[in-house]
Amino acid sequence: MLDLTRKALGASEALLFALFNQAPISILILDPSGQATDANDSFRNARRIETNESLARLNVLRDTSCIRSGFTHLVEPAFRGRICKEYECSYICTETDPPDAVYNLTAFPVMESGSLQSVVVLEENVTARFNAEKKALHLSIFDPLTGLPNRQHLLDRIADRLAYMERYSAHDALLLVNIDRFKIINDARGNLAGDNLIMQSGRRLRNALREIDFIGRTAADEFAILLPLEGDTPEKNGLKILSAAERLRQTLLKPFLIDGENLPVTASIGITFFPEESATATGNRDTPHYALARASTALHRAKDAGGNQCAFFERGMGMNAKERFTVERELSEENAEDGFLLYLQPQVSRNGTVVGAECLIRWQHPVRGLLAPGSFIPIAEDSDLIVKIGEWVLRKACIAMTQIKDTQNNFRISVNISPRHFMKPGFKDWIIALFSEHSLHPSRIMLEITEGLFLSNTEVAIRKMNELVDLGFVFSIDDFGTGYSSLAYLKKLPLRELKIDKSFVQDAPDEPNDAALVESIIAVAQNLGLEIVAEGVETEQQADFLASRGDMLYQGYFFGKPVPAADLLSNLATQP
Ligand code: C2E
Ligand code: CA
Ligand code: CA
Repeated sequence: MLDLTRKALGASEALLFALFNQAPISILILDPSGQATDANDSFRNARRIETNESLARLNVLRDTSCIRSGFTHLVEPAFRGRICKEYECSYICTETDPPDAVYNLTAFPVMESGSLQSVVVLEENVTARFNAEKKALHLSIFDPLTGLPNRQHLLDRIADRLAYMERYSAHDALLLVNIDRFKIINDARGNLAGDNLIMQSGRRLRNALREIDFIGRTAADEFAILLPLEGDTPEKNGLKILSAAERLRQTLLKPFLIDGENLPVTASIGITFFPEESATATGNRDTPHYALARASTALHRAKDAGGNQCAFFERGMGMNAKERFTVERELSEENAEDGFLLYLQPQVSRNGTVVGAECLIRWQHPVRGLLAPGSFIPIAEDSDLIVKIGEWVLRKACIAMTQIKDTQNNFRISVNISPRHFMKPGFKDWIIALFSEHSLHPSRIMLEITEGLFLSNTEVAIRKMNELVDLGFVFSIDDFGTGYSSLAYLKKLPLRELKIDKSFVQDAPDEPNDAALVESIIAVAQNLGLEIVAEGVETEQQADFLASRGDMLYQGYFFGKPVPAADLLSNLATQP
């Protein structure tokens, strides 16, 4: 068999030569002393060696970095006379054309009667495949938009850190940074603006961190940051981490330049440490998913408290994630509305007459009792559940108004409108149909909006407002002063009324700054011809302060807490 092959080869020496030289793979042949004896065209071309160049030149190649690593690991064993199988490796070669090409290297000994004849080195250019794999790997662990590690990468990193922590005592902090109201920005300004904001935020955060800190993007508007803690226990490190988190939050406060406009943004941060002490104490290992869930729970807490702040995960808070989920599920149920209750809080004039009321929803929960809106409205606002709630309240408000409009001709009712509900396509047609169904003039119900509505797509929001105002609808700006906007922007909005936020009202009598602010809000409102409602009036002193500053309506516990709608309406009937 061997002889036959030899004969066939002998008969086609020219073919063998052609095969050697034209093979699309580089071939280098070395003698047992390690001297290169031959190299084919592919090999020479890759290194720009003229065909007639001496073998001595090739010997030099053996020592170049290009194949040195390959020699050590795979060619040398072949020289040692061992019966070598194929050894393979990929390496990056800077001396070849193109530079930085990646080769697959195979070396094998050619044995003759038990002794080494030569060593053959095969080199295959696998750059394209290598780059494709590298790109695929990069895509699988990096976020294409920001170039930052993605969620999987983060989880892997936490897993690595946890494995390290099993052997060495160490702690890390995990921070989840989430841009407040990003969905609104994205929905209203468009995905490109949203992407732009994310890219800029990622860059700002990365620049604010040290080299050893890890930052990745874990969701559309969310970044995760790992901060290794030095020495101290997590408790002692708490303050340090809080100030680091605060610093990161501040870096996002400077307005972002997007589409030529300054976009002010706030962010919330949830913080946890790992490994979790209780997990390690009970012998249970902390896990990357559990760490992320804790940070996420803390983040939701920061959001529920109004956003624009940092919150630590605390034991027992684990309930909140579950609760959130439960609330969402329960609100989505068909008959959730059966538990909704309409409460009304009186709005009074200077002489104490109840002239109007604000609708405030309550939820009579089958297990948890009567719930204030703070425990479900923010959750509902994350999805279209808020539309269902908003529609329910407006419908009830219309019914209440039809009941009293004949006896209390000037009575006013206000309803809170969530930005998400307002911006929904079809809101305008829906609300027009609702009012006509109840034969109500649009001005009978004051629509309370917040500055949040203008944070995202100012133009569209104002246009929608104007369309409704043209039809007779009336708007009030709620919680005024807590947002981002200047007093100046009020001019652009077709408003009927302004509500001074309770935080200013409550501190105004004692805090000169708040007093000055309330005074300037009142002055601007008067200038623009807006009616004023002061919210959260709790004391006589506050009422007096306001009364001495201008004409307005008052709303607050001092005059009346929110009560079931039926109670307020029946009291009205008896009001002189
Ligand atoms: P808001 O629109 O600013 O409503 C005023 C909140 O301040 C009400 O809380 C009210 O009970 C409370 N309040 C009134 N007077 C005083 C006072 O003198 N002192 C203090 N400390 N608080 C006072 P509530 O009912 O818990 O509602 C909280 C928020 O939930 C509302 O704030 C509003 O943003 C939202 N909300 C309530 N009902 C609805 C609704 O039907 N739709 C929507 N979208 N949001 C609603
Ligand atoms: Ca309100
Ligand atoms: Ca308010």
